[in-house]
Amino acid sequence: MFSKILIANRGEIAVRIIKTARRMGISTVLVHSDADTGSLAYEMADETIHIGPSPAAQSYLVQDKIVEAVRRSGAEAVHPGFGFLSENPVFARRLEAEGITFIGPNPHAIEAMGDKITSKKFAAEAGVSTVPGHMGLIETTDHAVQIANEIGYPVMIKASAGGGGKGIRVAHSDDDMAEGFAAVKAEALTAFGDDRVFLEKFIVDPRHIEIQVLGDKHGNIVSLFDRECSIQRRNQKVIEEAPSPLLDDATRKAMGDQAVALARAVNYDSAGTVEFVAGQDRSFYFLEMNTRLQVEHPVTELITGVDLVEQMIRSAAGERMAFGQDDLKIDGWAIESRIYAEDPYRGFLPSIGRLVRYEQPEEGEHHSPTGPYVVRNDSGVREGDEISMFYDPMISKLCAWAPTRAGAVEGMARALEDTHLNGVGHNVPFLAAVMDQDRFKSGKLATSYIKDEFPDGFHGLSPDRRQTDILIATAAAMNEVLTEAAGDPSDRTEWIVLIAQGNEKGEPHGISLSYDDEEALTLDLVGEDRALSLSQIDWRPGLAQFKAVLDDEPFTAEVKRVADGFDIRHRAVRARVRVLSPRLAELHARLPIKVAADTSKLIQSPMPGLVVAIPVTVGQEVKTGETVAIIEAMKMQNILKAERDGVVKAVSAKAGDPVAADDVLVEFG
Ligand code: ADP
Ligand code: ADP
Ligand code: MG
Repeated sequence: MFSKILIANRGEIAVRIIKTARRMGISTVLVHSDADTGSLAYEMADETIHIGPSPAAQSYLVQDKIVEAVRRSGAEAVHPGFGFLSENPVFARRLEAEGITFIGPNPHAIEAMGDKITSKKFAAEAGVSTVPGHMGLIETTDHAVQIANEIGYPVMIKASAGGGGKGIRVAHSDDDMAEGFAAVKAEALTAFGDDRVFLEKFIVDPRHIEIQVLGDKHGNIVSLFDRECSIQRRNQKVIEEAPSPLLDDATRKAMGDQAVALARAVNYDSAGTVEFVAGQDRSFYFLEMNTRLQVEHPVTELITGVDLVEQMIRSAAGERMAFGQDDLKIDGWAIESRIYAEDPYRGFLPSIGRLVRYEQPEEGEHHSPTGPYVVRNDSGVREGDEISMFYDPMISKLCAWAPTRAGAVEGMARALEDTHLNGVGHNVPFLAAVMDQDRFKSGKLATSYIKDEFPDGFHGLSPDRRQTDILIATAAAMNEVLTEAAGDPSDRTEWIVLIAQGNEKGEPHGISLSYDDEEALTLDLVGEDRALSLSQIDWRPGLAQFKAVLDDEPFTAEVKRVADGFDIRHRAVRARVRVLSPRLAELHARLPIKVAADTSKLIQSPMPGLVVAIPVTVGQEVKTGETVAIIEAMKMQNILKAERDGVVKAVSAKAGDPVAADDVLVEFG
């Protein structure tokens, strides 16, 4: 076994690898860029080596620097994590030539599965079912349109070198095809330096189901079963689970067998993932093979008890797998939520900044009224850390395991409730919304889930009765604490609580307060024949989390004091809640509603990024749908189009300008 390994990665996956290495008694060397000096992984590693400036192209992707760091540290092997150099056969070969072990599959397997066109051919030869389409490269737009007509719309346009959901587009018509083909080619060139593009049939209403495989250098290959990753935005996964709620035993076995056959065909000898799209009828087609550790690997670890990083290290060291297919069983259910610095209320656009507040749920076993659940939280950052624009904006991977799927969903909802972030936009309310949806609970998933369930974007959910009670009780209790803290305890017991979502005046709820013998706050709801009992209140002015027990069930809400009330978020519900005396409430009802500023004549940058082009000039007449600006962020080009006809009144940015979210780019008259 190795005594020292180098980790050629950063963030949560570097932390994840260090944890296993430490448990195995292997010491770790972490390479890091400027931006990652002092990071959590940096603090945890036994040794660190600085390898350059923040952009990955000048640090994590420079092979010479990684090899040099291995030499200097005396490490015997390199774990590449995912992304960066993890699927680069040139890097794997280079290490081999230098006598350094690559903790991953052999270079031949990486190469064979490295691009989507070649791997699809391999899969077809190994008897794996593949998506119908055109196996060759497509050079011109005319050719693309012609092939698309042969395949039949809808058609998926894919960059052969693509990954991470980039370089993928669906075309429904010749016009879509012509535009999409050029866009995918351009995106592929900037993101992957390779503009090869191919077409395949778009499988309608599909689900993403993948098989985890594991091999060693002695010809043993097993399937560690399936994961479903259908909850995606921009073709990128956000919520994953294992096993898939779609599969029956026969389909599970058929997919596992095909995945193992493909792995065998390339002498696969590490952890890898064979991805499929599946129809609702359980038909399935090969998509691609990822020859690396997968982001969502923890859910597989939770249902099988196998540590995949440990297995990768053992296999790289030449050890024989200590178990066979028959030793593996699925135990319970696991769900992973990817917590991203991105704003779900604004189309999931990336958000950057300092994580000024970060409270994480406790790992390990918990109990909810519905049963036990286990929390695992793979995080790469700490409170106070910066989420920078240089890398993937993933903050953590929060996982919940329980004996049943319903238990895992409930556990995840609670773990999310115990997660608090501030300083950057984040998707926790969105993840919480999905856990609360009946469709998700019923397991009727599809890759179109987010579009189906949130057709006009995500705006949070409306409170159900329990959440309305939580909003009322939280605001009333905070109001009590504040008046007491002000040294001016009013003995008022009658209040009107106004709950407003968005720009409304708010729904009034009359309450009457009293304390019972055990010091619990009792709220009689006026006009309703019931009372709420709030106990174990854990909040004081300045805290962003309000914890208490409402009617015997604990909850946590995110709270903020604003000028005339409180902003409260519980799970996917957020509201402005005001606690007013009956007289003030009457006055409030007569106040005019503030109208939000009219932004309909402005084209604003939806995210921080770089202006690529503003192809309009002052005085120009623009028609609906015409491109007005192109912004690049996170290696993706975002085309901003006119939402109505108009004449350009002002242009406030030019190509090359860095812009912040909401910066005005173009103004119409
Ligand atoms: P998963 O199926 O594990 O989510 P993804 O394909 O989404 O895998 O990619 C996982 C990580 O690797 C992401 O951080 C993604 O940005 C990165 N990645 C994947 N493929 C590439 C690639 N070809 N070039 C750059 N980064 C990539
Ligand atoms: P990446 O390398 O970016 O992960 P994939 O080929 O794995 O690219 O595709 C990403 C996602 O796009 C899949 O998870 C699936 O949701 C969707 N997808 C890909 N190919 C098809 C297809 N032919 N039909 C329907 N959906 C597809
Ligand atoms: Mg994929």
